Amino acid sequence: MSCGLCPRRCAVDRREQKGFCGCTDAIRIARIGLHRYEEPCICGTGGSGGIFFSGCNLRCVFCQNKVLQSGSIGQIFTPDELAQAMLDLEKIGAENINLVTPTPHVEGITKSIDIAKCKGLTLPIVYNTNGYLSVDTVDKLSKYVDIWLPDFKYHDQRLADRFSKAPRYYEIALASIGRMLEHSGQLLLDETGKAKQGVLIRHLVLPACVYDTRDILSAIATHFGTETYLSLMHQYTPQPDAQPPLDRRLTKREYENAIRACLDLGFTRVFIQKAQSATFAYTPEFSDEVTVQS
Ligand code: SF4
Repeated sequence: MSCGLCPRRCAVDRREQKGFCGCTDAIRIARIGLHRYEEPCICGTGGSGGIFFSGCNLRCVFCQNKVLQSGSIGQIFTPDELAQAMLDLEKIGAENINLVTPTPHVEGITKSIDIAKCKGLTLPIVYNTNGYLSVDTVDKLSKYVDIWLPDFKYHDQRLADRFSKAPRYYEIALASIGRMLEHSGQLLLDETGKAKQGVLIRHLVLPACVYDTRDILSAIATHFGTETYLSLMHQYTPQPDAQPPLDRRLTKREYENAIRACLDLGFTRVFIQKAQSATFAYTPEFSDEVTVQS
C-alpha cells in the first residue's frame, strides 16, 4: 500500500509511516462547521459545510491555516463518523459539503460519501484543493464531486519552489484543473446564484507577483477559455515571520492591475474581494476536539 495519491508520490505505507503531507491512513479533521467566508455562490444563504482536513501536500509559507500543515492537529474520524458529520451539516442548513485540503484523505472521504449518500445526504460535494493533485486522483473522485474549487497558484516555477516547495506546480495544476473541467464542465449556477456543478478556479494575488497573475490568467484563457469562472483573491495577509516580498499586504494598485488583466483577456465571470478581506479574521479556529459547529 504505497501512497501515490498526489504528485509527491512518496511511496510510503501510510499504515506505518507518514508521507510529506504528515498524514497516516487515518482521517484527521481539525474543524467541521458552517463557513461563511467562501465565494457567494459557495456560501449561499446557509453557509458552506466546511470540513477542514489536517495535513497538506504543499508548504506555502503564507498559508493562513499553517497550523494544519504538519497533519498533527485534529481528531481522528472513522468513515462512519465522517458520514454522520456530513448528515449533521445538512441538518443545520449547510448549502454543500466543502472538503478543504482533502487530497491526502481521498480514500476515507469516498467511503464516507458513499455511506452518507446511502443514509440520505443530498448536498453537493465541493472539492476545495490547492490544485496539486494527480489526474488519476481527479478521475477517482469524479463520481463523488459536484463542484471543484481548485487554486491555481503559480505559473513561475521559481515562486512555486520558493513559496510552496512544489515541484512542477504549474504543469500539475494545469493538468488536474483541465481534467476537472473535462469531468464537470464550466460552473453552473442555479436561479438563486448557488453553484450546482462545475469548476471555479481560485487565484490568490501575491505582493510583487502580479506578473505571475497575468501569466496564469493568460494560461487559463488559452487552455480553458474566458468563460471560465474565476475567483481573484485579495485576502493575502502577511504572517508574523514573513520575508520580503511577502511581508506586506497587496497594494490597491496591484489588485486593480490583476482585475485589469482579467478584463483585458476577456474574462467576465470573476469574483473579486474587498481589501478588508486581508485579515486573520477569516482564519477559522482549529482544535483536537471536533464537533459540528453551526
Ligand atoms: S498524499 Fe501524502 S503521502 Fe501520499 S503521495 Fe501525497 S504527500 Fe505523499
